[in-house]
Amino acid sequence: MTPDELKSLVRTIPDFPKSGIQFRDITTLIGHGEGFRASVAWLADRVSQSGADAIAGMEARGFIFGAAVASALTLPFIPIRKPGKLPIETIGVDYALEYGSDRLEMDPGCIAAGTTVAIVDDLLATGGTACAATELLRKAGARVETATFVIDLPDLGGGTRLEGCDVRVDALMQFE
Ligand code: 5GP
Repeated sequence: MTPDELKSLVRTIPDFPKSGIQFRDITTLIGHGEGFRASVAWLADRVSQSGADAIAGMEARGFIFGAAVASALTLPFIPIRKPGKLPIETIGVDYALEYGSDRLEMDPGCIAAGTTVAIVDDLLATGGTACAATELLRKAGARVETATFVIDLPDLGGGTRLEGCDVRVDALMQFE
């Protein structure tokens, strides 16, 4: 499938989760067997070129694509969790949202020092989530050099922000 055909499988929901936001919904992309397979193949190809030793994905939609890419490349998958989900002592990073803050957590023991970890997520908007994941993975001893997304919203500046953290960004499709 071409990138344009894959883009046409993403559903746009106006005014979600609040007025003025155009939510790009990947439910319809992953609900299309060939579309899901082709999206994962594209991500896996980019990640394999980066030479990563492991894949990290952020809860929840990053698990869908990240775990599929890790399996396709026979690499370990590292789940980056929302707070309070893991039954062990975790490390975490707090990060600012437009209103308030959020937190990402992970198992500090799941990365050998110096492992190169590639981030995979469904969508890059402001880059706050991916920057926090980068900080967290580096805190656990990982090298983080790339982040690969299904969708980039370039007008929101996430790519520039991630480049400021020395992370290269790639995305299958963009929505202006
Ligand atoms: P950021 O932290 O880059 O501002 O936002 C990206 C995070 O929020 C991603 O983890 C993504 O899943 C979620 N997100 C924000 N806006 C959208 C959207 O329009 N569609 C989808 N599928 N996820 C979004």
